[in-house]
Amino acid sequence: MSRTREQYAKFLLPLVAKGIEPITLVAGRGRTVIDDQGREYLDAFSGISVVNAGHNHPKIVAAAREQMERLVHCCSYVYQVPVVGELAERLAKILPGGLSRSFFGNSGAEANEGALRLAKQATGRREIVALGHSFHGRTLGALSVTGNRARKLRNGPYMSGVAFAPAPYCYRCPLGLKYPSCDVACAESVRETVRTQTSGDLAAMIAEPILGEGGMLVPPPEYFGRVAQILEDEGALLIVDEVQTGFGRTGRMFAIEHSKGVGPDILTMAKGIANGFPLGAFATRDGIAESMRENDHLSTFGGNPISCAAALANLAVLAEENLVENARLRGAELMARLAQLPIGEVRGHGLMIGLEMVNPDKTPAAARAKAIRAALRERGILVGSGGVFGNVVRIQPPLSITAGECDRLASAVEACLV
Ligand code: PMP
Repeated sequence: MSRTREQYAKFLLPLVAKGIEPITLVAGRGRTVIDDQGREYLDAFSGISVVNAGHNHPKIVAAAREQMERLVHCCSYVYQVPVVGELAERLAKILPGGLSRSFFGNSGAEANEGALRLAKQATGRREIVALGHSFHGRTLGALSVTGNRARKLRNGPYMSGVAFAPAPYCYRCPLGLKYPSCDVACAESVRETVRTQTSGDLAAMIAEPILGEGGMLVPPPEYFGRVAQILEDEGALLIVDEVQTGFGRTGRMFAIEHSKGVGPDILTMAKGIANGFPLGAFATRDGIAESMRENDHLSTFGGNPISCAAALANLAVLAEENLVENARLRGAELMARLAQLPIGEVRGHGLMIGLEMVNPDKTPAAARAKAIRAALRERGILVGSGGVFGNVVRIQPPLSITAGECDRLASAVEACLV
């Protein structure tokens, strides 16, 4: 056993002692990571959809290093730091729907906590609607709006005033319907959920544009338009959790942009925002932003100057290298190729692709998904897994992946299926 494995086994909490993948990584560059035996892997999981610009991108590392030499930390909210202002201004230019006011924290969960609080303060209401099969983080509020029992075990009671609407999960429609003859009944069921499970005190609905941990569930194209209208009728806000989908992952800068005309009231980000440096954020517009007053919210490390410098460089790299467009093109090609394989369902957008593994009777085949993940690793390719039933293989490579690497990936998946 390596020294690292021994240390993990002895000094970290037992729950992470083994690691989900039995490898120790010591270096990374672009789409490649290297383990302690010197073995190279094509990383098609990007550190759970984080390093969209590729591992250790030289320009992003250089920007972070430059900032590190100037100022590591001083609490960006007690004092003001230029790079934080720069990043907020830059985000205001790219966020959809005129969201021009950001607050920076450290993680996706923290961003969602802030967003929930903001929604409550802005509306003066308390209740939240969330989706079955969703995932929003591991803090108590974020778990309270997460629709997956497996993530919530032995940790209740959760925040009260949360109601769940059925997931837009066409392959296993919770309403037993078929698209398009269903007329997107899952969207209409949000109204039913509000009517029957809340007390007229709805602050917001929180939803991922594509449910990532839930197994890359892609709602029908009309879904968010309908939901936004229902929320408007109810006088409630739409919080879009773009923690996993943001920053080019789905072939648009933000995944909600796939839904024409839908402007979220609050949008949360993390993961891909700074290409691996810890940073989370929630953003909103004028009119909502003011409801949080001085001292209502703060975060010691939030808006860390190094992370913010990395985020600015990351945004420049995404544009310079045309990575969002590459995600769209490579994603479409890869998905078309994978769709020809004997897999229950291949779904996604851009480079956020899920392979739902099933038994011949369509029941979820979690063991098969696990075996494919291991077999791909043996072939030097890292992927993820997810879904409430654990039967979805997740493919989320850096957005710079080449056609040749996609070809290698698709051929390896094909070979692992036999
Ligand atoms: N929201 C979504 C949609 C996520 O996928 C995740 C993480 N997988 C989170 C929130 C939580 O992010 P973090 O782990 O940075 O707290």
